[in-house]
Amino acid sequence: MYKVIPLVFLTACLIPINSQSNDKTDDWGKLSRKKAEFYAASDVPKSHVELTKRWYEVASREWGNYGPLEFWIVGSDVEAAKQLDDQYCRIRKQKDPSIDAKGCKNRSHNFERYAKEGNAGLNTQRNEHSGWSGFIVTMASKNPGPHEEDYKSVTLHEYFHVYQHAHIFSKNREERDSRTGKNPWWIEGGAEYMAQLLYSRQPGVPADYLEVKMAQKLRSLEQLQEGESIRDIQYGRRGSIAYDLGAWFVAFVIDKSSEDAFRIGFFQELDRLGFEASFERNFGSTSEQMLKEFHENFLQQPKAEMLKILAK
Ligand SMILES: [Zn+2]
Repeated sequence: MYKVIPLVFLTACLIPINSQSNDKTDDWGKLSRKKAEFYAASDVPKSHVELTKRWYEVASREWGNYGPLEFWIVGSDVEAAKQLDDQYCRIRKQKDPSIDAKGCKNRSHNFERYAKEGNAGLNTQRNEHSGWSGFIVTMASKNPGPHEEDYKSVTLHEYFHVYQHAHIFSKNREERDSRTGKNPWWIEGGAEYMAQLLYSRQPGVPADYLEVKMAQKLRSLEQLQEGESIRDIQYGRRGSIAYDLGAWFVAFVIDKSSEDAFRIGFFQELDRLGFEASFERNFGSTSEQMLKEFHENFLQQPKAEMLKILAK
């Protein structure tokens, strides 16, 4: 099973510049007409690029087009991935001349690693030290590969992260973290449920797709410890429990409120009010109360009962 890489702030390859200088032209979080840019390694077939474009279009039509956004598509050839890394650092330098080119080249999660291990990930670049803010999505050729059905929902998942982060304006890392919930339960749960929900609604997708996917995620219940809250699970070894049950928590929140309350209301007010106040205002209870009910009541039910709350 693929694991989606948590977002990484590439502070290591950036050197400080005056972060105030660009604020007048800072249109972070505004809907944009500018489409995403696509870059691919030389061994990536055109059909793979087209597939990624198609699912980006599905996502941005549904959730709005945000950016600046780049997709980098890696194949399985390591040499081709290295060349793509060179191109990547050239583009970074073009977009932000203040970056440290060596730091960019030596970054730990480079395309060579994606060529070897696969996976997908979003890198949100927005911080006080960078002259350029934007989103960089990396897609690879395995875990999942373009021939797997999961590739499509993973593309939607990554784009939902773009939507989430586009709604947090601050360049300060702590302020941004305070609005994402930091641990994966909320941000990954949200991206995963929204991606699967949107995918399930596409033409030709079997009617029971969402039920089957969400039932699979309930297997993570066995790994949740007695009295443990999904909120406390970090990225890493046990992170997938928070991805899976976080997706269920978002389904639960939507069932208690509405899809619009989650997808629109919460994010519209997130930046101004902060996580907790936006949560209470849009979902009618504190996140702690909601999590308590989720763990103590909802998750204790038979599977068939739980599956009834899934959105159509
Ligand atoms: Zn993710």
